[in-house]
Amino acid sequence: MEPIKFPIQQPEFHSVEEERLHLKQRLAGAFRLFSKFGFDEGAAGHITARDPEKKDHFWVNPLAMHFSQIKVSDLILVNHHGEVVEGNRPVNAAAFAIHSQVHAARQDVTAAAHSHSVYGKSWSSLGRLLEPLTQDACAFYNDHSLFDDYTGVVLETEEGRRIAKALGNHKAVILRNHGLLTVGKTVDEAAWWFITMERSCQAQLLAEAAGKPLPIPEEHAKLTATQVGTSPVGWLMFQPLWDRIVKEQPDLLE
Ligand SMILES: [Zn+2]
Repeated sequence: MEPIKFPIQQPEFHSVEEERLHLKQRLAGAFRLFSKFGFDEGAAGHITARDPEKKDHFWVNPLAMHFSQIKVSDLILVNHHGEVVEGNRPVNAAAFAIHSQVHAARQDVTAAAHSHSVYGKSWSSLGRLLEPLTQDACAFYNDHSLFDDYTGVVLETEEGRRIAKALGNHKAVILRNHGLLTVGKTVDEAAWWFITMERSCQAQLLAEAAGKPLPIPEEHAKLTATQVGTSPVGWLMFQPLWDRIVKEQPDLLE
């Protein structure tokens, strides 16, 4: 089937500096949105973006800075040893342990998002994959996995490696008793999958609390996944959220 084409196109870049600035702006915007959605839990949670030039380095939020206050100039660049090479704030050890391994294993993705959002972590405690209960949840049909092995705060890259292995080639992994992690070819996409996955967890929890939900039959869930679950759609779905946050909080661009 031909992929759906959109009249809105992703930006093209003429220099690595231009691409890097765009990436950092989207990253700062994603943090502001995560805060708006209530995904913050103290100092927990991180979104990372692979640098367009130094491919084994990633941009990330500094340790213990609230998502709602992050500006482009606050983002830090971390190398593959976990050293901060741009910016003067420290990196969260768990962010490095998990995201360095996800970025290393998934050269096809630019960004990864993780936080301790309420419905995601509640759902994660059930040790189950999401079912295709709604059109939106079909984005994850046959495209997410379960990391079924909680042993404490992830501080070792070895555990990050096991999380990356559980993620496999999917767009998301449910970390049991912990929360959700999503990836994407753009920051926009990774952030959108996180937002919609959190809401899909909420929808399934609500539906199962109220009764016995009827899943979308396999054949239609498979088709819907090809319609709502692709990278271009993930990117597109983020655009109205970006427009909203950059208008409301233009200081994120500083
Ligand atoms: Zn975590």
